[in-house]
Amino acid sequence: MRTVTMKFGGTSVGSPEAIANVADIVTDARASGDRVLVVVSAMSGVTDALLNSVREAASGNRWAYLSCSQKLRDRHEEVANFLMAAGKPREAVLAEIEQLLKQHVDLCEAVRILGEATPRITDAVVSFGERLSSRVIAGILRERGLNASAYDAGQFLVTDENYGSANPQWHDTQARVNGFLRPILERDVTPVITGYIGATRDGNPTTLGRGGSDFSGAIFAAATESDELIIWTDVDGVMTTDPRIDARAKVLPYVSYTEVGELAFYGAKVLHPKTVQPILQKGIPVRVRNTFNRHYPGTLVGPASEPSTTIIKAVTSVRNVCLLTVSGKGMIGVPGIAGRTFLAAANAGANILMISQASSEQNFCFVVIDDRADHAKTAIETELASEIARQDVDGVEVLDNVAIVTVVGAGMRGTPGVSGRVFTTMGNQAINVIAIAQGASECSISFVVDKQHLESAVVNLHDLALESVPVTA
Ligand code: ASP
Ligand code: MG
Repeated sequence: MRTVTMKFGGTSVGSPEAIANVADIVTDARASGDRVLVVVSAMSGVTDALLNSVREAASGNRWAYLSCSQKLRDRHEEVANFLMAAGKPREAVLAEIEQLLKQHVDLCEAVRILGEATPRITDAVVSFGERLSSRVIAGILRERGLNASAYDAGQFLVTDENYGSANPQWHDTQARVNGFLRPILERDVTPVITGYIGATRDGNPTTLGRGGSDFSGAIFAAATESDELIIWTDVDGVMTTDPRIDARAKVLPYVSYTEVGELAFYGAKVLHPKTVQPILQKGIPVRVRNTFNRHYPGTLVGPASEPSTTIIKAVTSVRNVCLLTVSGKGMIGVPGIAGRTFLAAANAGANILMISQASSEQNFCFVVIDDRADHAKTAIETELASEIARQDVDGVEVLDNVAIVTVVGAGMRGTPGVSGRVFTTMGNQAINVIAIAQGASECSISFVVDKQHLESAVVNLHDLALESVPVTA
């Protein structure tokens, strides 16, 4: 008997119509004999609304969280009323919703009285999104005749105390999955588990970071040694580029773990970047499929890159970034300046998307998301204050209005001439390339251009992805 983990994202559970599709998908899979482990997101928009409610509570705005609570009641009750017949089972689900909403308001009251929302209480508040959706969906699956039950992931998924972006504790998680979750699956129950949340060893709710329910799906697929992980979303699969930039974008039938990792990192929002991490070693295949086009096979994500017919598979871009350059004649041969710079940037909360240094060592540059750029600049200048005073380092220059363009494809590895073609294409379009980086995986090349050239860079490189260049060209 196969075990399939299915994760449904926010839009896939965002309305009664969408949840009806979810119920069809899960009941079909059960009917075909598969064991199904369901992982759900909060209904679309709910996590944002909950985050807002806790912020408003901290500033004393009682009305805001009460009205949030009422909206959540309306949305979840609507789904239950629409998809479940009147009667005891529906009453039971409505009562569960009511109980969770009461806890939400109680927590917000506490935050209002304290006048402060700590990361810990914020995670407890946002956990209600997935807790609500899982109750309703389990109820609907029972209505369809399945033996389904909702579970809070915190029972199985143990994390550290890094609230807001918690890290799984693999050993403890595996032990709890073996002890509690596997027996549930073996009893032929269909568990409906909250995505995005876990709990510390002491049982405090934590969250895995925004969009983290993909990661949850992968964690549960790995820990239960599922035969497949299906990420059900609202698009047909992983695409050759963003269809909003180029309408010719096509769905890729197959991408490798490494390729999808690079794509996720560089702005293609189909999968959370951490998703492949838990399943990589076990080689569990992942499918990205569309809840609203459920017979379409979607994209298969798997171990090695299959003999690919294209060298460049996909082109992605990140818009809201800044390029920071540290320069100075006194940096030559002085070790540690780059290290201290990146540490200072990290301490300022700036995640570094790409790095480039010329061997002259007179400057190096790197890219961060724009809202952290000023923080990072200040932090680095403080860290390098004495080098700047000695004029060994000139300082940090921030360039905004730039964008990263990335071409991804495992076929680039060992294929000469790919970067030549990429940059010739840029040259032909008279697009100035400001900085370049190629990962050692040779699976992607990223470069920085002026923001105004982003669209034309992507569209012209997308030509290369569409023309199916044979790997052996
Ligand atoms: N509900 C969470 C969020 O919006 C997690 C997820 O949907 O993946 O970030
Ligand atoms: Mg998502």
